[in-house]
Amino acid sequence: MEKETVKSIHKIAVLTSGGDAPGMNATIRSIVRAGIDSGLSVYGIEDGYRGLVEGRVYEMDRNAVTNIINRGGTILGSARLPEFSKDEVAQIAVEQLHNRGIEAVITIGGDGTYRGALKLTQMGINCVGVPGTIDNDIASTEFTIGFDTAVNTAVDAIDKLRDTSNSHQRCSIVEVMGRYCGDIAYAAALATGADLVITSETGFDLNEVIDTVKRCQGHKSRHVLIVITEHVTDVMELAKKIKEYTGFDARATILGHIQRGGSPSPFDRVLATRLGAEAARAILEGDFGCMVGTKNQEIIRVPLSEVAGKLKYVDPKASIIKEAKTIGISFGDE
Ligand code: ATP
Repeated sequence: MEKETVKSIHKIAVLTSGGDAPGMNATIRSIVRAGIDSGLSVYGIEDGYRGLVEGRVYEMDRNAVTNIINRGGTILGSARLPEFSKDEVAQIAVEQLHNRGIEAVITIGGDGTYRGALKLTQMGINCVGVPGTIDNDIASTEFTIGFDTAVNTAVDAIDKLRDTSNSHQRCSIVEVMGRYCGDIAYAAALATGADLVITSETGFDLNEVIDTVKRCQGHKSRHVLIVITEHVTDVMELAKKIKEYTGFDARATILGHIQRGGSPSPFDRVLATRLGAEAARAILEGDFGCMVGTKNQEIIRVPLSEVAGKLKYVDPKASIIKEAKTIGISFGDE
């Protein structure tokens, strides 16, 4: 049986929410172009759920997304509005949409953004989610938009640190983003030939760090590279302890929000364009309450109820970790 068709939906809106990610603009562009080409009016909502509640909504034409496929950040802006979990706040958003006759919303963001989309869905709003976050921490999709660019940025920075730590015979501790998911750390560690990778999944043990540095000293290494995700330990203190226990000079560098910026990689632009178009297609087919993602590089749709609140966890026994171990990268607390 044919699903609900384009005829019942005329006006849609798009928002970006949570931490920004390279490729969000390419996603907006794809949604706007695919939507308009299919006869929809497409509206942009400024600053995520905050802008929706405050009624900052404007119509976008094709030219509104000209020249943004290569730009980092998000032209719509992003903001956090923790109060959106309250019914009375979300109800204002519902009214803002009804007042404008907007019949569906595409939300681009991470897990919190899906929780917001699920809330709107439960209040009768048609929503489709697109995974846009550098952390790659969304369950049910292989890659989130922005992850590849963030890894490229981290690798570029770590390569530069390797140059100087090798010259000065130092241990470089590099803190990357990915609070709940170590994917940025694993990929960056493999791509830069790190000696140790520590994430929330591997756990942290100071003895393992010291043993790794000593082992490298035994090999007469001129540098030691440790990649660690944020919020695991204080990396400045860790650098001091390494020097104290091994005598090897150590410096910590926190890459921070540098990883969230920059022009999206070709991989992210392609992913953003594919997922944006699929989100518009889902709306046209009346397939709401879902997130679009990929599995084995094929586009999939997954119910928001199966995605929201279910962060990806990389099992320390996963293949990427096994492969890294075979070339001598140590992990966390082993
Ligand atoms: P990132 O992980 O990249 O920062 P995110 O989408 O997870 O992205 P959050 O700040 O967690 O970022 O969430 C974005 C917004 O989604 C919040 O500011 C809030 O407006 C909304 N949101 C988060 N959790 C909920 C919830 N439980 N119910 C309703 N809305 C929520």
